[in-house]
Amino acid sequence: MKFYRDRFKDKVCIVTGGARGIGAAIATRLGVEGCSVVIFDIDEKAGGYRVKDLESKGISVDFYRVDVSREEDVSRAVDSVYSKYGRIDVLVNNAGIGFSGRSLEEQTLEEWMRIISVNLTSVWLCSKHVAKYMKNTGGVIVNIASTRAIQSEPNTEPYSASKGGILALTHALAMSLAKYRIRVVAVSPGWIDTSEWQVPPRKSELSLLDHAWHPAGRVGRPEDVAALVAFLASDEAEWITGVNIIIDGGVTVKMFYPDVESLKNMISLILENSEVGEVVGSLIKKLGEDRSLLDRIRELLENN
Ligand code: NAD
Repeated sequence: MKFYRDRFKDKVCIVTGGARGIGAAIATRLGVEGCSVVIFDIDEKAGGYRVKDLESKGISVDFYRVDVSREEDVSRAVDSVYSKYGRIDVLVNNAGIGFSGRSLEEQTLEEWMRIISVNLTSVWLCSKHVAKYMKNTGGVIVNIASTRAIQSEPNTEPYSASKGGILALTHALAMSLAKYRIRVVAVSPGWIDTSEWQVPPRKSELSLLDHAWHPAGRVGRPEDVAALVAFLASDEAEWITGVNIIIDGGVTVKMFYPDVESLKNMISLILENSEVGEVVGSLIKKLGEDRSLLDRIRELLENN
């Protein structure tokens, strides 16, 4: 991966949820490219780990324990960053939480409110408090949404709604803040394997099948998202504002038919690789869970 060492020289960024996962990769990338990095995160242990990691790479970094869904936390931390650095050039609203996957009947208002406030209200809160200072210099706000803003599995209502809300908030903020030379952009990642950016780092446990069905040939990495965020936050992207950019290895535009040809391609791809046993095992398990799919495959094979 190519780095642009001085791209953010003398600039200051805040990355929410930057202690681990995608946010940690974004904080690292912006730091390597010259930014002074400030991490807002609720996880102090992971924050301490990340500060040491960034400092070992020669990056200037501060950590604030902030719950991004609480206005008093956000307001106090943003004021403190501004009084220390005198400027805030980039805000990356990345902090987010997943959802339990309960069915609609079992979902509670409490859980709905929690997901909406951590994933969506936080983006509004951080943008509002940072814009107050960013107005002086101009700057960029990057909001991390998800492809789940535009596609769903069953039982994901709170998470999908929170991410869809980020897309609408992004264009609204872009219009309100354009007169201050503040750009606002959303980034929607697909499936990103964050194992190596956890605290402590973990080994990836993905199967070949997980990688193979992505048109780009693999599941995404936090570094992929970080490279896009760095570009969007840079002056090279000065004509990009208000939009959502999808980064998903081609999954959202992939047309999928469960026909013989695609099954054959998938099986031959699997057989070319060494972890065949594991992959075939997981395929059989998936087929076993869905009897009708197995019957359909048998029928298709018999007819060809
Ligand atoms: P992660 O759980 O690895 O990291 C999230 C970080 O946010 C953690 O450091 C956590 O402590 C912090 N955080 C959580 N709640 C917080 C709060 N209230 N205040 C402050 N910090 C808080 O998650 P990730 O996979 O790196 O996801 C990062 C973002 O990317 C999220 O918004 C997520 O929805 C989005 N996203 C992830 C994927 C994926 O496949 N991993 C795909 C699409 C979008």
